[in-house]
Amino acid sequence: MVARRFQVLHDHSNFDVNYDTDDGFEFFKIQLFSLTSIPPEEQKIYGGEDDRPVGSDEDLVAISEKLRLVSINQVSGGESSSVDVEQNAELLKADEEFARLLQAEEDALMLQQYVASQDTGQFEGRIWPYIDQVLMYEDSSRQEAARRTVPVDELREKGLVSLAKEGNFKPSKIEQDHAFLLQLLFWFKSSFRWVNSPSCHSCGNETVGQGMATPLPSETLYRASRVELYRCTFCSDSTRFPRYNDPMKLVETRKGRCGEWANCFTLYCRAFGYDSRLVLDFTDHVWTECFSESLGRWMHLDPCEGVYDNPLLYEKGWNKKLNYVIAIAKDGVYDVTKRYTRKWHEVLSRRDMITEPALSSVLANMRKHCRGVFTSQLLSMIEERDMKESQELERSLHSEDDVSLSLPGRRSGDEEWRKSRLEIGSDKNSTLSSSSCPVRLCVDEHVTRIYDAFQPVLNEFVREELTKADAVEVLRIMKGIFLALRNSPFKTRKASADSIVNSTKFQKLLPSFDELFAAVSLDRQVNTDGRVEICLAGHPVRTSLALPVVLDALDDMVCNLNKHERISEDSIALPLLKSNRIHSGSVIASAEELPFGIATSAFDGTQKSKWEEPNGARGCWIVYKTFHDKMYELEAYELMSANDAQERDPMDWILEGSNDEGMNWHVLDKQTSQTFEERFQRRTYIISSASLPCNMFRFRFLAVRDVQSTSRLQLGSIDLYGSLDIQIS
Ligand SMILES: [Zn+2]
Repeated sequence: MVARRFQVLHDHSNFDVNYDTDDGFEFFKIQLFSLTSIPPEEQKIYGGEDDRPVGSDEDLVAISEKLRLVSINQVSGGESSSVDVEQNAELLKADEEFARLLQAEEDALMLQQYVASQDTGQFEGRIWPYIDQVLMYEDSSRQEAARRTVPVDELREKGLVSLAKEGNFKPSKIEQDHAFLLQLLFWFKSSFRWVNSPSCHSCGNETVGQGMATPLPSETLYRASRVELYRCTFCSDSTRFPRYNDPMKLVETRKGRCGEWANCFTLYCRAFGYDSRLVLDFTDHVWTECFSESLGRWMHLDPCEGVYDNPLLYEKGWNKKLNYVIAIAKDGVYDVTKRYTRKWHEVLSRRDMITEPALSSVLANMRKHCRGVFTSQLLSMIEERDMKESQELERSLHSEDDVSLSLPGRRSGDEEWRKSRLEIGSDKNSTLSSSSCPVRLCVDEHVTRIYDAFQPVLNEFVREELTKADAVEVLRIMKGIFLALRNSPFKTRKASADSIVNSTKFQKLLPSFDELFAAVSLDRQVNTDGRVEICLAGHPVRTSLALPVVLDALDDMVCNLNKHERISEDSIALPLLKSNRIHSGSVIASAEELPFGIATSAFDGTQKSKWEEPNGARGCWIVYKTFHDKMYELEAYELMSANDAQERDPMDWILEGSNDEGMNWHVLDKQTSQTFEERFQRRTYIISSASLPCNMFRFRFLAVRDVQSTSRLQLGSIDLYGSLDIQIS
């Protein structure tokens, strides 16, 4: 550990910054961000005798204490000539690199003229069958068959909850459509099955491939032109695996490889009215693109992976050597390769099937064929959209900015199959682009309200001198009511409270739960016939968001009650009662895995969601900044293990607080060799020493449980408890 103090000059002002090598360079940049409002990615730091750029921890150990910070977006005012020289040199270098790429592209094009076939037949032969296939998506009976299998209300609700988690409780139609499409993708991924070799149709055991069979009429009816044959390793029976091309049949069979997945998913997208394309990668993969009105552009969706808007997944994540990526839709065929690569010159050198001019004319002819019957109005609309897209593709091709998602190796198919395709991605590859996450807001006031609302319940338990068994019993009954609420349609949620009302033993406890109902935007109502019902009392999405929290909180409470001998005044404290939970702050983490390992998941009060740090096994951090910079004296915190992979549990960490925007950090707690024996296990840590009022808290996780077997760290939840420091001015 090396501790240093720097004087950083920015815009004629000097800032003092403390730096500790344990913090890492990234954190240094975040401190600068809090002082100067220049985001870390836009910072350029210079220092030393020769005013050279500072780019790593090592630089900071050795360099002189005076540093200079410039924003890369700042137009240099000429006051410092060395900046200009530096920037000019970099621009020159970038120009040279750009010229080199253009030359490589030109060379590849030149070569293509000699190696590419003059005959366009081979290329066209691959595309035409798909033009026929995508037209099936327009058939209303196929669309209807697809829609019938989708739990539409459930996906709508999930979409609305995902928007609410970002603080958007009144989304526009366009935002809702976008959110629904993503839920459709996740649902599809979980409802469709991947098949390497089918299990035996008579005994269910494993089978081995026996080559191809001639399709039966019942198979060709659904366009299975190829049928694979398998033999059972146990009973020797043969099992057929027809590769159906009719998506209507796939809606029923719900299995296959990427061809079937993409074919069927694209039908689903069309069935819900999204402008959709089937995307064919000539190096053997298929996926979907939909036009997102919300993004104003085409978006990549891979149903096999459940991944969206991450077009560099294949080139960077899977190490694919792409050549042609062609999108096929009812209104035409498009070369979208440029969306999926940042190495166009390399891709060009592999495009030897057809010359670029011939490709353009083949695609233009195909488009003409598809658009034969279009009105001139529709035609001009589509042509304008096409033009916008090709401009966007050109722009993205040489863009430096990286995708915001981390790019995991391929996940569909079993491991052996993936390895054989060399798409599993080495550890290095799988993490190369997991970028640090932006500052994110925690929408979790309801979590604190729910935790607080258990206070009157526990008080009533003590007052009524309930036995432990009775207390657990009443919480179980209450859980039943909340489960019934969760299972009812989200816009009209309602459940009977008769199970409590009819119990002479627990009846009088019911009013003590009113605060809990209110925290979930619910209300206890007595009907004219005297029956008691729990109904919606506010925005239905608020209830959708809060119900999983209250269900998990009830489980947690039962678990903690069982650890007590009896319930008394003394038991009304952590971990049983979680009062003073800090909420609505913002978080930033060293990294996160999107979409399911987003940093805010650690603060959403539900067990199932988690924060996943793809490179966090040997050290990572997460910083919590309080709402409106309110100062809290931290009293305790709780960490919960995630749903799986115990090797990723944190083992050693340091918790620090700051009251000066991260300039100085004070150690509040330090833990080593901690183990979580169970999944979803919550551990409570009380801050023993008198704590100092802070508005920023930082966990530095130093090691996970098994650093040998994982690169990742994950946590189910982080809860901070503290009392507000009210300063009298
Ligand atoms: Zn068998």
